[in-house]
Amino acid sequence: MKKEEVNTNFYEAVNGEWIEKTVIPGDQPSVSAFLELHLGIEKTLMDLTAEWEKDQAKLNGNLKKYIKYYQMTNDFDKRNELGTKPFELILNKINQLNNLKDLDSVFEEFSLESIELPFGFMVMQDFMNSNNQILYFGATDLFLPDTSYYLDETKKSQLIGLFTMTTKQLLTLYGFSNEEVDKLIQEALAFDELLVPVTKSSVEKADYVKMYNPLSKKEVEALTKNFDLMGKAETLVKQVVDKLIVMNPDFVNAFDLIITEDNFSIMKSWMIVSNAIKFASDLSDDIRIAGGAFRRALSGTKEAQNKKKYAFNQAYNRFGQVVGLHYGETYFGPVAKADVKTMVLEMIGIYQERISGNTWLNEETKELAKKKLSTLAVHVGYPDELPPYYDFFDISSYEQGSDLIKERLAMNKIVNAHNYKKYNKEPNRNIWGMPASMVNAYYNPSNNQIVFPAAILQEPYYSLKQSASENFGGIGAVMAHEISHAFDNNGAKFDELSSLNNWWTKEDLEAFDKKAKDMITLFDGLETGFGPCNGELTVSENIADSGGIRCAFEASKKYDKHSSDEFFQNWARVWRNKASIEYSQLLLKVDVHGPAILRANMQLSNLPEFQEFYGITEKDKMYLPKDKMVSIW
Ligand SMILES: [Zn+2]
Repeated sequence: MKKEEVNTNFYEAVNGEWIEKTVIPGDQPSVSAFLELHLGIEKTLMDLTAEWEKDQAKLNGNLKKYIKYYQMTNDFDKRNELGTKPFELILNKINQLNNLKDLDSVFEEFSLESIELPFGFMVMQDFMNSNNQILYFGATDLFLPDTSYYLDETKKSQLIGLFTMTTKQLLTLYGFSNEEVDKLIQEALAFDELLVPVTKSSVEKADYVKMYNPLSKKEVEALTKNFDLMGKAETLVKQVVDKLIVMNPDFVNAFDLIITEDNFSIMKSWMIVSNAIKFASDLSDDIRIAGGAFRRALSGTKEAQNKKKYAFNQAYNRFGQVVGLHYGETYFGPVAKADVKTMVLEMIGIYQERISGNTWLNEETKELAKKKLSTLAVHVGYPDELPPYYDFFDISSYEQGSDLIKERLAMNKIVNAHNYKKYNKEPNRNIWGMPASMVNAYYNPSNNQIVFPAAILQEPYYSLKQSASENFGGIGAVMAHEISHAFDNNGAKFDELSSLNNWWTKEDLEAFDKKAKDMITLFDGLETGFGPCNGELTVSENIADSGGIRCAFEASKKYDKHSSDEFFQNWARVWRNKASIEYSQLLLKVDVHGPAILRANMQLSNLPEFQEFYGITEKDKMYLPKDKMVSIW
């Protein structure tokens, strides 16, 4: 690396060559270290699927179902022959509805089948008592990805224009007449418009503790006189429901003004349009391509996936944990599992030390933070258990009279019924939220649990071929990032029992809030070439990155062969990323993760050891004065 490049743009110095030679795949909006690993796994799993299809003798029951379903998603001759016929099942159900009473009578069925409705229920862990699961209530998403697009007239007309054009093409393929298409889109947009003022922005959604708004049965009933919401809730969970957790209070407060008989016809058009988009993926080749057109245009993705990939992903997305478990068991052995687990525990140990040495917390708060760390559950590689609903899937082939929509509704019914059954029960903490074959990792505040699926445990994140410093700059920083989520602006509100409970002294909480504000300021408005970074939207991730790099660097330094150069280079390497302009702009509006270049560079600038090691001075772009640096964990 040239010194000049290092001091100006470290991310570019490390990744310049990669950025120059790497091409964004036509069916993707971007390419990154994450995506490269993902594509490698996709290839492995597609090859495996082809093998399994030829020889099913050794497959377990759920993998056999996966293959049977894959044979349906992959049979495009049959899909094209059936055309839009399978969708009639859903369309007829919606067309029969004429008023709110009719909606009431199909609400349970639609909810179980995941037929798009303007509002719905979900069972999740109780934020206040993580040992129980309760009912949350929320409204649908808007057609555009964020409320901010509706506030900017130019942007709004451009994107609504794009939505109208792509949806027109889709509905025409469905066989609606021009007149019907115009009416459906116009009315669907009119209903969408009613939801805009009562929908949370991406920034508001990022503060997920604010999702928790308990309302008693009486309170809900008083606000929703037009529809028997509580009755529906009780039908779904088959129990008495005495309260709901309302994720979006504005919607519930306006419920009786929006969900009215007068608005019923535009709501019905909204349902037809929304479901036509949603279920396009299960129909003929031209319809599934048209169904993704708006999303591709929004993200600057040039083309749809080819049939083979699409068919694989469609089946894989349904059976993700089943296929993922096989992947984990086959490609991530017990040796690596033990090695990675040791690394995580080492990282937690360093976190304990850092909290002991923390200079801005009182002893009382420190003790509780350490208590929370000591109860942190670590899951690595692949889960011990899968969600039980796969065992109840029963795939019927085309020959048996089925089609992809019938299959999807049947599987939705099983999964959703399973979800509603969890109401008022203790959660099973062995169940993971993502497949072992997914290149990602997460922290779940309701379980005080971190999960590292097998898929992310590869180069450049982790490899036995890489030096320890490189591994610490890669997976080590990811681990410490996930641990830091336990103490970011959201996670910090949950205690060692994973419940929403303030365990901070007043003084410490004020100090933390001040530091979180400083983190917002550090990133807010930073230019990326595609628009400014939103400091508030990305604060939780930036706090986690900042804790992640500090803790991982300290872990690396404990090794004899520690190399700061290798650590910093691999930290920057894992952030390599190339994206379309449209996608970059979209993410700036909706993604709680900041742009990759800032995650790499700003976190380095914010680290005194980095500045010292490369001799950065105030003349350099990578320079950040000490009084501007923000160190939280
Ligand atoms: Zn994160």
